[in-house]
Amino acid sequence: MSSLLGHLNARQESILGLIQDLVERETTSREESRLNEIARFVARNLQILGGEIEMTEQSGYGTHLRAHFDFNHNSDSPRVLIIGHFDTVWPVGTIERLPFHITPEGRAHGPGIFDMKSGIAIALEALRAIDILGLKTRRPITLLLTCDEEIGSRTSRPLIEEEAKKAAAALVLEPPITGGIVKTGRKGIGAFTIRAIGLAAHSGLDPDKGVNAIVELAYQTQRLVALNDYVQGITVNVGTFNGGTALNVVPAEATANVDVRFWTTEDGDRIVRAIRNLTPVLPESQLEITGGINRPPMPRSEKNIALYEQARSLAAEIGFELKDQIVGGGSDGNFTAALGVPTLDGLGVDGAGAHAEHEHIIVSDITRRAALLTRLMQTV
Ligand SMILES: [Zn+2]
Repeated sequence: MSSLLGHLNARQESILGLIQDLVERETTSREESRLNEIARFVARNLQILGGEIEMTEQSGYGTHLRAHFDFNHNSDSPRVLIIGHFDTVWPVGTIERLPFHITPEGRAHGPGIFDMKSGIAIALEALRAIDILGLKTRRPITLLLTCDEEIGSRTSRPLIEEEAKKAAAALVLEPPITGGIVKTGRKGIGAFTIRAIGLAAHSGLDPDKGVNAIVELAYQTQRLVALNDYVQGITVNVGTFNGGTALNVVPAEATANVDVRFWTTEDGDRIVRAIRNLTPVLPESQLEITGGINRPPMPRSEKNIALYEQARSLAAEIGFELKDQIVGGGSDGNFTAALGVPTLDGLGVDGAGAHAEHEHIIVSDITRRAALLTRLMQTV
């Protein structure tokens, strides 16, 4: 342990340099050429460490990268799957306004640094530590870095599930909850678009000939809001509401986007049925309802708890306390957990402000998180 920590501490400046490099390669979701380029850059680094590289290009999105390390094990034996993503929510050019910098208090700022460029960096460092120090692992390891997590993992989900089926455990590099708290459970997530269709008419001359789509959608909004059950952890949020064309026209169309979150598959199915079965209130209006569940829930299962307990004792050996929590946000860990693979999420570097202007990581947390990830890679 002390040689691992010594090695990582000596590399702190290099790791920070790598994090800066990754942050300055701005990689907004769907910026295809940038997401191809960062995948090639990280692939070169992983190849040097002995990884067998697989690149999956997705037209319009970027590249998903898989690096397989057999570490003298049979390549068919169950693997440890490490999952991260290259894409960020920050538009290209944000780096001019929010440049990478380290404050006197030891915080490193930059767009995407917490979610999750620093997570990618510690995964590379953990693999480097295994290589340089000649450490043994219990299983072969696959690192999967995707390019579309922030937009729902549409093109990466099949790859995640394919790799999860070969995995004994999944370790997810998403940022922890501030305080370094890992995530052992996540809500499932659904998304719907509800379109109300009425009939346009002049609001002064023929108001009675029109069917007001905004009014129809307002009735539906009340029904949707009534599905909320905070005690059960079910949330239904009408997040956008658009309709109408002009002040003096009875609106013929209105559309709402609805975000749904839940703890159990049964709750999710029930809410989906309730939304799909919505019927119009106004005579002669119509509803078009599209969407469904896009991330199944990640329950805080016995398997996840056992994996967390293992991580907690490794963290104690390194010299810090690792806490866990369940959260309402989703990640690619939802997919692996839904397949019954023990999953531990939030293994990135401590910090705050994911998707927010003050996004940063705590510099002093980098080496111990890299050490924890290395020890998990060795022992899971
Ligand atoms: Zn993320």
